[in-house]
Amino acid sequence: MAITNMKRISFNAGHRLMNHGGRCENLHGHNYVAEIYVTARDTDELGRVVDFAVVKGLFKTWIDDHWDHAMILAEQDEVAIKAIRSVEPHRLYLMPWNPTAENMARYLLQRVAPALLERIDDYDIVVNKVVIWETETSCAEYTLEQCDASEPHLAEAWRQSLLDQASPGH
Ligand SMILES: [Zn+2]
Repeated sequence: MAITNMKRISFNAGHRLMNHGGRCENLHGHNYVAEIYVTARDTDELGRVVDFAVVKGLFKTWIDDHWDHAMILAEQDEVAIKAIRSVEPHRLYLMPWNPTAENMARYLLQRVAPALLERIDDYDIVVNKVVIWETETSCAEYTLEQCDASEPHLAEAWRQSLLDQASPGH
């Protein structure tokens, strides 16, 4: 069996959406919430997927260090990047894609989670879903199954790992 728990992490950040054509093309901010869904083959001897403090320690630290109180921009957004860099101090985080809630969830799942999970070896876990709440009524989710062909290596390794954990007999 596979079992999942979720840790919720709040942060504040600014962004803008290139080529939106409307309000979201302005520099603006959100009170974001990230939900990190972690799956294990089974619970540990204490009955947990993973200690919530472990997930918080990894993901809250990364978000605090990189996204919290930062301006998150697409790396192609030269005008906005130049503007933010002209202000001291500033925190700027560049994304390979437009910083929508969808792409932020995708980035956390595909790029950030594997590196963070490498740091722990006492749990056999996988992050199988990330949800980013941009407002109280708007969120986007990205799941392991959606890992696209741009990172087939990663997607396949993860898919296999999730399947291994979920398959009976393990
Ligand atoms: Zn926005």
